[in-house]
Amino acid sequence: MSSIRDEVTSIMETLGVSAELYQGGTLSVRTPVTGEIVASVRVTSAEEASAAIGRAATAFRTWRLVPGPRRGELVRLLGNVLRENKDLLGRLVSLEVGKIPSEGLGEVQEMIDICDFAVGLSRQLCGQVIQSERPEHRLMEQWHPLGVVGIISAFNFPVAVWSWNAALALICGDSIVWKPSEKTPLTALATIALFKKAIAEFGEVPEGLSELIIGEAEIGKLLSEDERVPVVSATGSTRMGRAVAEVVARRFGRSILELGGNNASIVAPSADLEMTLRAVAFGAMGTAGQRCTTLRRLIVHSSVYDQLIPRLRQVYAAIQIGNPLEEGSLVGPLVDGAAFTAMQSSLEAARKAGGTVHGGERVLVNGEESFYVRPALVEMPSQMGPVLEETFAPILYVLKYETPAEAIALQNNVAQGLSSSLFSNDLREVEVYLSAAGSDCGIANVNIGTSGAEIGGAFGGEKETGGGRESGSDAWKGYMRRQTNTINYGLSLPLAQGVKFDVGS
Ligand code: NAD
Repeated sequence: MSSIRDEVTSIMETLGVSAELYQGGTLSVRTPVTGEIVASVRVTSAEEASAAIGRAATAFRTWRLVPGPRRGELVRLLGNVLRENKDLLGRLVSLEVGKIPSEGLGEVQEMIDICDFAVGLSRQLCGQVIQSERPEHRLMEQWHPLGVVGIISAFNFPVAVWSWNAALALICGDSIVWKPSEKTPLTALATIALFKKAIAEFGEVPEGLSELIIGEAEIGKLLSEDERVPVVSATGSTRMGRAVAEVVARRFGRSILELGGNNASIVAPSADLEMTLRAVAFGAMGTAGQRCTTLRRLIVHSSVYDQLIPRLRQVYAAIQIGNPLEEGSLVGPLVDGAAFTAMQSSLEAARKAGGTVHGGERVLVNGEESFYVRPALVEMPSQMGPVLEETFAPILYVLKYETPAEAIALQNNVAQGLSSSLFSNDLREVEVYLSAAGSDCGIANVNIGTSGAEIGGAFGGEKETGGGRESGSDAWKGYMRRQTNTINYGLSLPLAQGVKFDVGS
């Protein structure tokens, strides 16, 4: 038995996950840290998935009647359990995904933060009272629970994405069915075991309030096809989102789509280059380039290009790549060999398109079964070919610009619209960037990078990123149904718009 396998087993045992769920099953789980198999998880059959959805649909009928603040209490307890087990779950994230420890812990912190947010929100699912045009009438809207929320999540935030959806859905009075990435079922099993502890402390909840179904894309497809699931929140590639959106739309369901990004930062002449350098390093190389908000394009004004890019090249050459579990490593492994192959083929395409590639080579850290790379910085003559696509690996394409309008056009001229940022100390330039004529992304930052969002704001992006919003602000409305009510408390029956329809009496 290897030490990582031992550690995984020990964490799963401590968190209360039954061994039969992750040993002796047919879904092999490899740790990207060494590439070895650390568990074999039991997958959910189609019949079991359908039964789970059925249980969740039944649970909804009861849960929707529980008062919002009481539903919030369950989420408060979940936040507490996560606080108590932050170290263990964070460590499991690092083992299963290959994140450095502070990022593994940061992911669990994000879960705690959204729980806190949702608890407060559970008392504030407010509708409006609107002025009626008719005398002695009240016009208002209410928000009601919607039903079963299907959650399909990606490998790179294996548990935070569940919590963004689950915390909101639960306080909104919905039940949930989660289909995690087939690459990260262990953290999903552990999260559900922790949620069960919160439920035990809470008392009674309807059976099926939270269901977990494990498997590959097929099982996600079943979830998106099922008419008992009025909303499907899907996080992953644009390819996946397109498939899910079509299936859900065909049955008039609702999709919340959180898909790929091709995020850019613009570096203006007035930028603080020290700050820019640090932000770019984290944004482009953190999580080994495997965040949806990873910085993928750097659009640099020609007047500062020769100051910034040579220094950035030095940072890239010196960054510590290594076993993410060892102190000092800042760049851990890619998730698997397919990610490595995709990275190499994008770099090859960039070279063919006239790009100059610095870095990008494989670094042997833990043998042949794991895939570590030096992040690549690619100076491109123009925005073309692979620059237009999201390669889920640490590749940063660098482009030059002359005018602010050209920079914004370059930034926006891709199919994706998730995150963006501008480094500038020029007030007018900043305001234009944040105006209707500026960044077309769901996230537009100033003097910080593209990644590392807080949960208080709504998270998501436009165009091929899917248009969905999760997490903070009023994203909760995606998990409820709106009902408009007109109440006549008078003795006559005036019709709207002055319409007359007297049938006599
Ligand atoms: P992926 O698309 O390969 O898989 C995501 C999930 O979708 C998995 O659970 C998978 O089993 C499921 N799936 C795949 N095809 C499906 C189908 N036809 N029907 C139903 N389910 C299906 O993505 P990945 O490699 O796990 O994650 C990386 C991608 O996720 C990147 O593109 C990244 O930008 C994106 N991402 C986006 C956000 C965001 O909030 N915008 C957050 C994290 C990751």
